[in-house]
Formats: sequence, C-alpha cells, structure tokens
Amino acid sequence: MSEAPEVSGAVANWARNITFSTTELHRPRSLDELRTLVAGSAHIRVLGSGHSFNRVADVDAGRSGALVSLASLPGGIEVDAEKRTVRVGGGVRYAELAAELHAHGLALPNMASLPHISVAGSVATGTHGSGVRNRSLAEAVRAVEILTADGETVTFARGEEGFEGAVVSLGALGVVLSLTLDTEPAFEVAQHVFGRLPLEGLDFTAVSSAAYSVSMFTKWRGPWFDQVWVKRRLPEPVDFPWAEPATQAQHPVPGMDAVHCTEQFGVPGPWHERLPHFRAGFMPSSGDELQSEYLLPREHATAALRALDAVSERIAPVLQVCEVRTVAADRQWLSPAYGRDTVAFHFTWVADTERVLPVVSLVEDRLRDFAPRPHWGKVFTAAPERIAERYPHAADFAALVRRLDPRGVFSNAFVRGVLPR
Ligand SMILES: Cc1cc2nc3c(=O)[nH]c(=O)nc-3n(C[C@H](O)[C@H](O)[C@H](O)COP(=O)(O)OP(=O)(O)OC[C@H]3O[C@@H](n4cnc5c(N)ncnc54)[C@H](O)[C@@H]3O)c2cc1C
Repeated sequence: MSEAPEVSGAVANWARNITFSTTELHRPRSLDELRTLVAGSAHIRVLGSGHSFNRVADVDAGRSGALVSLASLPGGIEVDAEKRTVRVGGGVRYAELAAELHAHGLALPNMASLPHISVAGSVATGTHGSGVRNRSLAEAVRAVEILTADGETVTFARGEEGFEGAVVSLGALGVVLSLTLDTEPAFEVAQHVFGRLPLEGLDFTAVSSAAYSVSMFTKWRGPWFDQVWVKRRLPEPVDFPWAEPATQAQHPVPGMDAVHCTEQFGVPGPWHERLPHFRAGFMPSSGDELQSEYLLPREHATAALRALDAVSERIAPVLQVCEVRTVAADRQWLSPAYGRDTVAFHFTWVADTERVLPVVSLVEDRLRDFAPRPHWGKVFTAAPERIAERYPHAADFAALVRRLDPRGVFSNAFVRGVLPR
C-alpha cells in the first residue's frame, strides 16, 4: 500500500503542495521496530495517507526529525461482531476497513467524500462527511491506543478522563497504534443528484435535512448550487421538490469524468459504496488542487452563503468547486464541530498557491463574524491564536500534550502554533 509520494528523494503530500521538512520516511514492519524507532527519536511525526494540504503532519524544519508511516505494520483490522466493534491499526485506510466491515454485515455511520484516507489520520484532524444528524468520523471512536515518546502504551476509552482530547489529536500525543470504533448493522443507501438550486428563497434547514446525507455544490458562477447530492438511507423515501434530477451521471468537479464517482440515479447499494462521493481505486476529486474548509454554527448558514455570494466574483476564478455540508455537534475537544451543530463550507481550489491564498484570506474575512473553525487538514491563513480561542478546551488539550509528551518529541510548529501558551 503506497502512502505519500516521494519526489526525487523528497517526501510530499498527496496534493504535492507540501514537501515535508525531512527526507527520512520510515516504514516499520513490526511493532518492535516501531518502538525502537520511537525510543531512539528526538523528534518524529506519523504520516498517515498524506491527504492533508498543510504542514499538520510535518516535522519541524531545522530540527532533525523523521516521519513514520504505519502502512506496513501487520494486524490491521479485528472485527468483534458480537460487540459490534472493530479494532483498526494506525495505518489502515477506510477503503479496506469498510469492505471488511461490510463482509461482516456491519457499517460505519458515515464516511468522508473519499475512502482513500487513513482512519487514524482522518480522526486526528476531525474529518467529517455530511448529514444533519451525522457527527464527525472521530465520534465513532470508543478507544484509542497511543505509543508515547517514552515507549509506554496508553489507552483512552470513552468516558475516561482525557478521552475527548486524545482522538482529534493532530498527531501530537504519540503514535496511534489502534482505534476501536463503534459499528452498526450494514445498511443500504441510494444516491440521487439534482441540478440547479437557486440561493434565492433557499430553505437551508429543509434542504440539508432532506435525507441522511446532503451535499450542495456551487462553482460560485452565480447565486445557485449547480448540483445537490442526496444520499438517502433506505427505506427513507426520496423527497426533493426543490430541483430537477440530473439526467446524466455527475462529477462535482467540472470537467472530470463521473466514472470516478459512486453510483447515482437512486440505485440502492451498500453504505460504503454510496456515502463517499468518490470510488476507491479511482482518483478522488480532481487530483490537481488545493482545499480549504470552514466549519461554523449551522444557524449562520444562510447569512454565510450571502456573505460568500457577495464576493463570488473573486472566488470563482480560482475555484474548482465549493461544497456545503452539515455536521452534527460532537464532544471531541479539537473537533471543528465541537459543541455546535455545524455547516461546513469546503473549497476545492485550483493548484496555484499564490493565486489562491489571497482568496482564502478573503473568505476568512467574510466568514469572520460567524466564528469559523478551519479544517485542520486544509489550507488556511487565519492566525493560529485566533483559532485556539474558538476551542473551549484548547488549554486542556495543551495540558494533555504536556502530560503525554513533555519533551515535545511529537510536537511541531503547526501544533505549537495553535496551543495556548
Ligand atoms: C481528495 C480529498 C478529499 C477530502 N475529503 C474530505 C472530506 O470529505 N471531509 C473531511 O473532513 N476532510 C476531507 N479531506 C481531508 C482529509 O480527510 C484530512 O486531511 C485527513 O487528515 C487525511 O488523513 P491522512 O491519513 O491522509 O492524514 P495525514 O495528512 O497523513 O495526517 C494528518 C494528521 O494525522 C496524524 N496521524 C496520521 N496517522 C497517525 C497515527 N497513526 N498516529 C498519530 N498521528 C497520526 C498526522 O501526524 C497528522 O497530524 C479530503 C482530502 C482530500 C485530499
């Protein structure tokens, strides 16, 4: 299983907009090898599947450090069908996990737009899908097992002190060796794509609650959504009176082939082949892109849409597509959906950092009154201290980091930046 690409000796992220600050990428094949590596490291970070667009996974420049990938470790997935739980190794991706769970008649409540990403890396950044009642992927975690810098293995289980800080961890506490997740009986989903939906007169609550998971896409070429993806959990009926059904299979990104996307036209299928937009084994999204995302209290959805529409002429030239989703409030201290039912504004930008960053700042400026929390794994320009103040438990997380990793072996500039001093 390949993870981050290596470009002439350098290690880069999936999008290739980040070259990591070290060329050392270890791939231990056993737990012992991993323990020895960590014990002998003054500075080390875990690299998941490398799908973040910023330096969250990086080591510090100028501080001799290494990256470690867990993709070659054995012992990936252990299903406990009786308890309806699954223990997932730190390097496992959602695609493998979902197929295995489905084979046991089990399911996860929700998935992100793609199954290519690692479970540990996704929950570490508060990754989410859509659905007014669906919480972030981290909320499925019931226990997390962490190898700390001093070689100890610590487990935090739901209900224990510190658990809510240990799941969305930004990789700062140690190596996540495994996660135990709640599952539920497998279910079927049917996906319908609808066409143009005007912003004028939009009842955001009704549209976003029309099915189990709803995603609205706009290119900001006008005051409308170009596509609305409606994923209904059977036997939920299809009821979407606001737009016409698409007559051809769609890809959310203009110009991309719909063959990359999960089945549409209401054909029922397994949860893991409908909840993500993109199919395992195919390039997700456009592949040539940057991404940003801001999560804000859901009651501001309509006002935020208006605020973005007012600057749509600045957004559109550097945008591939913008996706609006919902996430239910959760309890993980650093989850961008912590404590608030959320609307998430996602932007797939063109792959041109210089042109994109000023527009990212503009979007942040327009959303400022709505207390946005940027996605930890995507591009943002907001000052780190402004971000920390939006998390009521930021100081508790900082204390947990000091407790588990007093020497800062797993810390990096990104993490230190957002922690209160
Ligand atoms: C095409 C595309 C589509 C996306 N769609 C969505 C979406 O629908 N919803 C959404 O919310 N996000 C989405 N994302 C963002 C993505 O979910 C996050 O960037 C996520 O962190 C990716 O997981 P990863 O394993 O690749 O993480 P990486 O970027 O490799 O790492 C992220 C963080 O996790 C830490 N980490 C990883 N594994 C471990 C471990 N075992 N132990 C300790 N720390 C670890 C790393 O140190 C780092 O801090 C998308 C990204 C792409 C490229």
